[in-house]
Amino acid sequence: MTLPIVHHPGYDAKFAVNHRFPMGKYSALMTALGRRGLACPGALVQSSPAPASWLRLAHDETYVDQVMRSAVPEAIEKEIGFAVGERVSRRARLAVAGTVLASDIALQTGIACNAAGGSHHARRARGAGFCTFNDVGVAASLLLASGRAGQILVVDLDVHQGDGTAEIFADEPRVFTFSLHAEKNYPARKVPSRYDFALPDAIRDAAYLECLDDALKRMAEAFRPDIVFYNAGVDPHEEDRLGRLSLSNDGIRARDRAVIGHFRGRGVPVVGVVGGGYAHDVDELAERHAILFETAAAFA
Ligand SMILES: [Zn+2]
Repeated sequence: MTLPIVHHPGYDAKFAVNHRFPMGKYSALMTALGRRGLACPGALVQSSPAPASWLRLAHDETYVDQVMRSAVPEAIEKEIGFAVGERVSRRARLAVAGTVLASDIALQTGIACNAAGGSHHARRARGAGFCTFNDVGVAASLLLASGRAGQILVVDLDVHQGDGTAEIFADEPRVFTFSLHAEKNYPARKVPSRYDFALPDAIRDAAYLECLDDALKRMAEAFRPDIVFYNAGVDPHEEDRLGRLSLSNDGIRARDRAVIGHFRGRGVPVVGVVGGGYAHDVDELAERHAILFETAAAFA
């Protein structure tokens, strides 16, 4: 089967090339996927902006309203790291809907990826850390509300701790949040996930993969999910600007294979989302993000 990939050209809100957030990576990723034959017409599914009713399942009404009207208070925009104008607001809604759509498809086919998403720092009442809405938070809430999933696991391997997702599901026992991250990295104040695994700086492939394997085994004993959301951020990469860890491309590939193989081997549907990744060269960055899609395609 071809890997279903959810995408929309509006995922790229067209920031200036020298912006701290490498927005161009979303367009570059589609080019990288095209080169690999993964972004063919039969594989691509287009998202459309998420309605407020979905967003309110994971976010406070006031904040949803502020983003929809492009009237986010300056203090919150500062936390996010960019202004929430019309294009950014639409992009946030498109990315959420992309993860929702990917979760619908994964429940039917076993695996699907969104070519955006993984905005795990967004909390109920505000965005933060380049994240406006928490796409996984909304998609998981929607699955619970509709009864399509009863137990949901979030495997967050972005190098930064998944504080927003942890906060959204702090009182929701049906969602198990797992974060494997660099201890000394952003956010300074972490919100406890159900399972946090904090790593020391500069950890390399072998030690990282050992920690991951250990964590996957522990979770398999503790929780049997109906679906897994996998945040495959590539900021643990050795050349990432914000990472602090030292994974190679092969390490990232082995990581993705370990996660996807583990859950597909158990028959659990997997939804892959892009997550963080920071480099000045967006083409190089897109190549790193493409690893998730290549790996997922082998399990489709
Ligand atoms: Zn990150």
